[in-house]
Amino acid sequence: MKSLLAIFFFTTSILMSAQTDSKIYDIIDSVSEERIRNDVKTLADFGTRHTLSDTISETRGIGAARRWIKSEFNTISSNCNGCLEVFYQKNLVPKGDNSRIVNDVWVVNVVAIQRGTKFPNRFIIMSGDIDSRISDPTNFTDDSPGANDNASGMAGTIEAARVLSNYEFESSIIYVGLSGEEQGLYGGKGLAEYAKTQGWEIIGILNNDMIGNIEGVDGVIDNRTFRIFSEPITTDETDPEKLAQQARARRFYGGEVDGISRQLARYVHKTTNTYMPEMNPMMIYRLDRFGRGGHHRPFNDAGFAGIRIMEAHENYTQQHQDIRVEDGINYGDTFEHVNFPYAKKLTAVNAINLASLASAPPAPDNVAIGGIVQPSAKLIWDKKEGAVGYKVYWRDTTSPTWDNARYVGDVSEFTLEGIVIDNFFFGVAAVGKDGHESLVVFPSKTYR
Ligand SMILES: [Zn+2]
Repeated sequence: MKSLLAIFFFTTSILMSAQTDSKIYDIIDSVSEERIRNDVKTLADFGTRHTLSDTISETRGIGAARRWIKSEFNTISSNCNGCLEVFYQKNLVPKGDNSRIVNDVWVVNVVAIQRGTKFPNRFIIMSGDIDSRISDPTNFTDDSPGANDNASGMAGTIEAARVLSNYEFESSIIYVGLSGEEQGLYGGKGLAEYAKTQGWEIIGILNNDMIGNIEGVDGVIDNRTFRIFSEPITTDETDPEKLAQQARARRFYGGEVDGISRQLARYVHKTTNTYMPEMNPMMIYRLDRFGRGGHHRPFNDAGFAGIRIMEAHENYTQQHQDIRVEDGINYGDTFEHVNFPYAKKLTAVNAINLASLASAPPAPDNVAIGGIVQPSAKLIWDKKEGAVGYKVYWRDTTSPTWDNARYVGDVSEFTLEGIVIDNFFFGVAAVGKDGHESLVVFPSKTYR
């Protein structure tokens, strides 16, 4: 009896210390492979969703596609008593802006905001792309189903809205279909600018671009691994003086691999390992694939934290290709190539991170570090509304992940006795009442 009791207390204490939220498992279970499949089919069946394609037809072209996406968001909203604010955000791009803009064109994003109950002006964003392309990036008439690139990311975004609209969160969530990606990242640029003019406080953006391919051109078949691309530091290039100052600080205090996008990548990595241990999140320490780009970049350029979530093994014969058979190879980004169980998993990865970040308090401000030529590192920060306490993180300087943590309670400073500042990197996160944590904040200043 005594040992049974001991086992009971042992297991409950493990459960409590794991700090998991059962709501997150419900969210994973609610994501529907079938609905993602149907939505990818619907999007691919618009024939082409090229940014410069037809906008009048009800059945073909990007106009029909965006109206359908908007109507899906509206349907989701009517099922949750109007919990989504749905609108078009658009920018006119003039002919010749670059060589892929062969006509004047409105680049139209479809935005759905699920307003937070406590922090309505704080936003975590999930994006997919509406538009598609084939071999010639200016061919806006021929068939361009874009099933994986990027109906998969768009369908995942719509499905995340369906699932998460059944819950309420403290911070706002934005689900967005961006356009103009293949023509030069225009939709992201437009929305990032809009966010600045609106004064949105952005926690981060999870950009989903190609989340449905499991058979790589390298011959590898893998339905568990996915990539999280993040650039090392995110800089606001508009202020050269500040840039030089930050570069100098990094030289003496570190931070070369600890920018805000990287912290968002680590967060997704950790949340996935906690709630979906069957998956293999792979952090890639670069903005995007070698020499290539995606819609998170304009957000990074604007000083926001942005990452790209993506399949691990790409197939280039199915990307940006005219549909054809050549040397026995089926070229083209068609519906049959998409793996829906995998797209469902990556959608769930997004949904649990949106839910966790929208449930978490804001990250602490003004995190400063001290302890030079002292036996112990110390940290100080500004407390934030909604936090029940704070967690101090540290890791070996060579480690990609925050491997050590200590919950320090509802305080605004802490000394890590016996942990020498020279030998680790440090950060601080805010913890909310259900255990959800903010992003980790790397210190931006020092103190004595
Ligand atoms: Zn593409």
